[in-house]
Amino acid sequence: RRGWIEVVCGSMFSGKTEELIRRLNRAKIARQRVEIFKPALDTRYHAQDVVSHNATSIRSTPVPVAQEMLLLAGGCDVVGIDEAQFFDDSLVEVCVQLANRGTRVIVAGLDMDFLGQPFGPMPALMAVAEFVTKVHAVCVCCGDIASYSFRVTASEDKILLGETDAYEARCRYCFQEGMKEK
Ligand code: ADP
Ligand code: MG
Repeated sequence: RRGWIEVVCGSMFSGKTEELIRRLNRAKIARQRVEIFKPALDTRYHAQDVVSHNATSIRSTPVPVAQEMLLLAGGCDVVGIDEAQFFDDSLVEVCVQLANRGTRVIVAGLDMDFLGQPFGPMPALMAVAEFVTKVHAVCVCCGDIASYSFRVTASEDKILLGETDAYEARCRYCFQEGMKEK
């Protein structure tokens, strides 16, 4: 059995979780043993499930540290990891070890933070992955493709439904315009 690493990255609302769920469901149809993890700190919607903004969901196991996945993923064919940006750099070595022992690892996470900077272990993960897919959201300002997650300040009073911290997807131009106004 051969393993590899797939990364699905992009801004908030770009469909990373949807794409992760789609790939994992197809692996299940192929009767592969699938396990899904997320960092324990991400409990925005549900303590257990991985939930997309489109309200599709899949059962997941929250883990406090990346290393825990090495123990829990024994005997899995496919491992899915959502919100990977919240893990520390040790996630990279964990994914490499899983892939080396024959697991297909699918990792979804934000490639950039709200300042437009590379986010946590994501850049290093993209370097060691066999496949990298960058998905895009729609810019809420102009409708172009969006790669940035713009943090909406309280004073602008535009709270997005269901988000504890309010973010909006923006294209490069509208993200820059918004940062100028801050
Ligand atoms: P991510 O995991 O990347 O944050 P999700 O997979 O949870 O994204 O959600 C993607 C869904 O979000 C889309 O299918 C769409 O229904 C919804 N959505 C809400 N706002 C936007 C936007 N600005 N651009 C694209 N999709 C959006
Ligand atoms: Mg998501």
